[in-house]
Amino acid sequence: MNGMVYLVGAGPGDYRLITLKGKECLEKADVVICDYLADKRLLAFAPENVEYIYVGKKAGNHAMRQEDISQLIADKAKEGKCVVRLKGGDPFVFGRGGEEAEVLKNNGVKFEIVPGVTSAIAAPAYAGIPVTNRKVAVSFAVVTGHEDPTKGKSDINWEKLSTAVDTLVFLMGVGNLPHITSQLIKYGRSADTPAALVRWGTKAQQEVLITTVGKAAEDVIKHNLKPPAVFVVGNVVNLRSTIQWFDNKPLFGKNILITRARSQASKLTTALEELGANCIEAPAIKIAPPDDNYVSLDNAITKIHDYDWIIFTSTNGVERFFARLNEKNLDARCLSNAKIAAIGTATADKLKNYGIIADKIPTMFKAEGILEVLQNDIQKGSKVLIPRAQKAREALPIGLRQMGAIVDVAETYCTKMADTNKDDIKDLLKNNQIDMVTFTSSSTVENLLKLIDDEKTLLNNVKTAVIGPITAKTCKNNGLKVDIEADVYTIDGLVNKIKNF
Ligand code: SAH
Repeated sequence: MNGMVYLVGAGPGDYRLITLKGKECLEKADVVICDYLADKRLLAFAPENVEYIYVGKKAGNHAMRQEDISQLIADKAKEGKCVVRLKGGDPFVFGRGGEEAEVLKNNGVKFEIVPGVTSAIAAPAYAGIPVTNRKVAVSFAVVTGHEDPTKGKSDINWEKLSTAVDTLVFLMGVGNLPHITSQLIKYGRSADTPAALVRWGTKAQQEVLITTVGKAAEDVIKHNLKPPAVFVVGNVVNLRSTIQWFDNKPLFGKNILITRARSQASKLTTALEELGANCIEAPAIKIAPPDDNYVSLDNAITKIHDYDWIIFTSTNGVERFFARLNEKNLDARCLSNAKIAAIGTATADKLKNYGIIADKIPTMFKAEGILEVLQNDIQKGSKVLIPRAQKAREALPIGLRQMGAIVDVAETYCTKMADTNKDDIKDLLKNNQIDMVTFTSSSTVENLLKLIDDEKTLLNNVKTAVIGPITAKTCKNNGLKVDIEADVYTIDGLVNKIKNF
């Protein structure tokens, strides 16, 4: 039995706040066991065939009992597996990680603790509230807010706690604020003391409510603020007016639906999230082998030395082309006879990864523009290869043939509908929980419409942002309005336009 358990702090909310060691543990996990505070995107770090067990509370579904969870972790490890137990924040800060570790010890299972960034510090930090400050607070305490007030006796020494520490941070306290605040006031903390509630801290849904100890309980009801939130008490709360940095970003609070193949979505998502947006990835398309099972591409590869020009039209085309070369034990050197054109700077950048600097980089995406750039290079009789998507516009090969070139089109991939959770996306749209949808190619438009069963009315209140004129046209042809169209037809161009919208 070589099983191993890592009790890993997942961080407070934003999945990127996991530690490097926590990520390394996920990368080698056989089993991941997590609850509702851990972001699902962390799972992307785990191997694809990882066993994922959710033990948290879900609507209509009771949480597993703590003893059962601890035993499950131990049992999985006893099967010889590498188990990652992911816990929100830090595993030992009200995370019951200590109890789980005891059970593992008693079961003779090896374990390690990987501390995490606790919400007690991170949620205030993302609200612009430092828990200590040389001038304002030299101490802080983290306190459970979950004590049952009807219990009669409290484990919290309110009399000493209320005034002994400058900053108090209560976790799990939202439902219990009348009790918490009345105890604080009873034992000498002024009702005017500044206080804040930070809900879903560090996430794009973060909400901050600034109040006072005296008014907090009432304000929470008035603003219908729900858990999970931390309750921060102390003069440090005033610093938010100067230090606020996160929830005042340009796209903060905006929910944007990203329709791209999963492998490409991350760049757009990262850029928009950097600006504060909450991105929901609907990988409406995924990259798959072409239906001809590479017959056209393999043909082209066998006579690759004959081509005078090879025109790459997309980053996917580049990736799939070189992946196929690689499968045939070939590399970029077999392209040495040809000149290379890359349509768009992103395609050119992708080629650099394979050691190739494009000779020509037309930055316009319409065939006429591309042909104009290449007209002095491609002559009558020039042999041209275009490795590209299965379903692509014919204007480019047609135009080149009209210039007298001999053109081969090789299908390097096709885009297919991904099996996204379609009901989730439809629900979000129905409940007006999407502010904007991005389209980065015509196929993303068509596939999203398929995904929502062509119920275009679902998109009535949603702004659409498209990467360029061709995609815009596809939107219009499908009866969708276009609110934002990038001037520069790249991800950066699109992000810029959205930011300034
Ligand atoms: N181990 C966790 C705390 C678990 S107790 C940690 O170190 O953060 C659960 C409580 O943590 C919640 O009731 C809430 O008070 C707090 N919490 C967790 N994540 C939070 C977040 N993103 N924003 C605000 N509070 C959070």
